[in-house]
Amino acid sequence: MNVEKKRRQEQQTVKTIIGIYCHGHHHRREPGEKLCPECQALAAYAVERIEKCPRMEVKSFCSVCPIHCYAPAKREEIQKVMRYGGPRMLLHHPLMTLHHMFLTWQTKRLEEKTNCDM
Ligand code: SF4
Ligand SMILES: [Zn+2]
Repeated sequence: MNVEKKRRQEQQTVKTIIGIYCHGHHHRREPGEKLCPECQALAAYAVERIEKCPRMEVKSFCSVCPIHCYAPAKREEIQKVMRYGGPRMLLHHPLMTLHHMFLTWQTKRLEEKTNCDM
């Protein structure tokens, strides 16, 4: 898959998971907003990290990334969100989850192939 397409999908996935977390915790949102201000800030941060991600071609989950480019406080925040929202993704967005699982599988294969070729 095209790296830029993967980047956009990753950004969409992280925003969706943050949305599940925000709604699930009944955070107070301004009228017309999908996220509360704190979750909006976290989503903007995560989207920016993915925008600058140097491992986009081979990355699967940020949680297993050897670089982990998040600041410590943000890392803790996103881990909390992922623990809650990740498992609920399958229920709320089954197609997006399956697609993400497929991308992860594809990435793992690419990584294995790269390791074998070295
Ligand atoms: S944590 Fe790793 S995979 Fe995730 S955005 Fe940062 S560098 Fe990329
Ligand atoms: Zn929120």
